[in-house]
Amino acid sequence: QDSGKYKGVIEDCCCDYESVDSVNGEVLHPLLQELVTTPFFRYFKVKLWCDCPFWPDDGMCRLRDCSVCECPENEFPEPLKKPFLYGLPADDVACQEGNPQAAVDRTLDSRAFKGWIETDNPWTNDDETDNDEMTYVNLLLNPERYTGYVGPSARRIWDAVYSENCPKYPSGEMCQEKKVLYKLISGLHSSISIHIAVDYLLDESTNKWGQNPELMYDRVLRYPDRVRNLYFTFLFVLRAVAKAADYLEQAEYDTGNHTEDLETQSLVRQLLHNPKLQAACPLPFDEAKLWQGQSGPELKQQIQKQFRNISALMDCVGCEKCRLWGKLQVLGLGTALKILFSVDGQNQPSESLQLQRNEVIALVNLLNRLSESIKYVCEQGPSIEKTMERQ
Ligand code: FAD
Repeated sequence: QDSGKYKGVIEDCCCDYESVDSVNGEVLHPLLQELVTTPFFRYFKVKLWCDCPFWPDDGMCRLRDCSVCECPENEFPEPLKKPFLYGLPADDVACQEGNPQAAVDRTLDSRAFKGWIETDNPWTNDDETDNDEMTYVNLLLNPERYTGYVGPSARRIWDAVYSENCPKYPSGEMCQEKKVLYKLISGLHSSISIHIAVDYLLDESTNKWGQNPELMYDRVLRYPDRVRNLYFTFLFVLRAVAKAADYLEQAEYDTGNHTEDLETQSLVRQLLHNPKLQAACPLPFDEAKLWQGQSGPELKQQIQKQFRNISALMDCVGCEKCRLWGKLQVLGLGTALKILFSVDGQNQPSESLQLQRNEVIALVNLLNRLSESIKYVCEQGPSIEKTMERQ
């Protein structure tokens, strides 16, 4: 594998690009790809139809592909026992697109996913304790890809995220914590753009999908800091998963299918105790360096509020599928922040960590998305850059 121009230690992290590329390609990516197809990790509970708290709804989406295919009522719990649905394209599955009233099998809460706590996450705006209009989405049937969501509506969200909640730090900015927030969001933004570029509608008339290398170059590769921020976000989330290892190892992944649930548990263990990962990158990010000064607690409150605002902005995303993945990934980041920076601003010992089921699902699915993006950049970035820079 050619890591291209990204070499040496990743800024503010403790591992180098080459090690991350190789351990991701050999170990993490294959493991995560399998983990996210397990019954526990492929259903995400989400409130998709909510009012934007900042401005009136401007739902703007050109393509049918914006819609989320909800889990039909009869999908539960039977399909949890019948893995044959896994690889089917969305069109082959009965789908209740864009219907806020779609029935949700709430018995799933008590039967299939028992043993999980319900507490608020101070870093995020929404949580699964609020059952009103919550629905389950099968993530495998709703891949993150190009949806046609472009223009002022999408632009307004990113503008609000960056300008009001995590402004790009000036070069020479010393406040490490503010840098972290900006880099996390920018890294996530890079990953979203990469997924759009990798699964793009090339020809609307023939419905031909494929890769759009120009888009990947224009939005991400030509800006080295966006690529660096992607690696940073990946390592940050990886560190959170490692820090929560005790909790994640003991958690219940019970969905009613003993064989599949054992497999889920085994995959989680392989992720948490991976000798290759530990050798390549023993401490992906050192959170102990943050919030040290006198203003630490105050700064943490300020950054927590900014992140909560970003989480609330996800309700303003005017395209269902983008909102789904936006909410999931921001919840995943909020979960990583909660794990690394304690629950309420005090440095609580990790034994007291409590996570919601949905937080764990979001965390692992986010890590998988970032891992996919890193793999694309590592494998295809150098040749795309060469081609584009020759033109
Ligand atoms: P945008 O990606 O909208 O970027 C806006 C501005 O932000 C850029 O001009 C640049 O100044 C800055 N910027 C861009 N990337 C970075 C970065 N990595 N770091 C720092 N600054 C940056 N569209 C889909 O097709 N599918 C999806 O699944 C999808 N999900 C979305 C989820 C969310 C939460 C949001 C807000 C939008 C989503 N979109 C999705 C829309 C998509 O992200 C773009 O907004 C859209 O494609 C228009 O792109 P653009 O070229 O105008 O640049």
